[in-house]
Amino acid sequence: MSLEPASSLATPEVDKINLMGLSASGLGDLFEQMGEKRFRGTQILKWIHQMGICDLDQMTNLSKPLRARLAAVGEVRVPEVVSCQDSVDGTRKWLIRMDGGSCIEMVYIPERERGTLCVSSQIGCALDCAFCATGKQGFNRDLTAAEIIGQVWIAADSFNQFETAAPRRVTNVVMMGMGEPLMNLDNVVDAMNLMLDDNAYGLSKRRVTLSTAGVVPALEKLGDVADVSLAISLHAPNDELRNQLVPINRKYSLDQFIASAQRYLEKMPDKRRKITVEYTLMDRVNDRSEHARELAVLLRELPCKINLIPFNPFPGSEFKRVTNTALNRFRDILHGEGYTVTVRTTRGDDIAAACGQLAGQVNDKTRRQERYKKRLEEQQIVKVIG
Ligand code: SAH
Repeated sequence: MSLEPASSLATPEVDKINLMGLSASGLGDLFEQMGEKRFRGTQILKWIHQMGICDLDQMTNLSKPLRARLAAVGEVRVPEVVSCQDSVDGTRKWLIRMDGGSCIEMVYIPERERGTLCVSSQIGCALDCAFCATGKQGFNRDLTAAEIIGQVWIAADSFNQFETAAPRRVTNVVMMGMGEPLMNLDNVVDAMNLMLDDNAYGLSKRRVTLSTAGVVPALEKLGDVADVSLAISLHAPNDELRNQLVPINRKYSLDQFIASAQRYLEKMPDKRRKITVEYTLMDRVNDRSEHARELAVLLRELPCKINLIPFNPFPGSEFKRVTNTALNRFRDILHGEGYTVTVRTTRGDDIAAACGQLAGQVNDKTRRQERYKKRLEEQQIVKVIG
């Protein structure tokens, strides 16, 4: 065993800026502070997100001395892939370790004409929806922008998407993994902007979707800082039932949530945009004909399409999947009322990769209650849920 001086045992790397999470303008600012031209930022952006290169030494359009100066303050850190599983239906699930040791899960769902990546925004989730496995894990912390976009990088890398001739496998991103994206608004917006940037992943704004359970004040802000597709998780057609299933409803009612979603649409330049309404169907909980009819009335003014999600069970869950009869009846009623209705097919069931089954490995559960409470206090919802 070699004895090293204490100073070399320190890990200064941890303090370095993670260039993975910076936008072109963030990188531009960094170069400007170093007395360099801003356009260097775009060069770095392309190396990382278009060519998949994280080693600064390989970024050959920067001079060697400049690379050395950059390396003194920054580096590109990719979260660690712990495991990667493939389902018989082509769905792929990754377990990814973040700084601090907790793990999140990410899922890729291939379809005929698109490939959808389901990305996490937080380690755990504070909202505790009654039917969601992530909520049962409690809340640990927000992911940084680097950790969110790093997930897209990992998927692109695993499909060799960075190679010029390789087909692009990730065409869509949905913020529907672990966490409530609107509880981590700034980092989620930064990461989504990288997904959209033509010098990074260049995804179309219709193909990046943020899904929320209804953090209304953050939804109000979202429309001013982002232009992406929006999905709203309703799961119930009235406040009484939704209060039980989605506790944040006790703070922001269905009417407030829907009105805010409507305002989001109005802010969008493209007037043909529609909201996706997500409705997870649970046996004899929210799947009756009256519920479908009530939902049809509730959504009358909202330009939307409805996505029905059969409940996916997980260990310890108290609900049951909707029966096919109830599912078809629910869909037919909404169809009859003139709505576009799709049913989300269950994918990756064999590897527990379906909606609501993502549990990751949320460590630090002793501190989690404290942080959970703090987070809710920040959003002023502690009294109703806490
Ligand atoms: N926090 C975000 C993203 C959640 S995951 C949100 O609430 O919208 C995406 C969708 O899956 C949400 O509509 C969520 O309510 C739903 N979901 C959660 N658990 C589920 C389960 N066990 N079965 C089916 N859908 C589930």
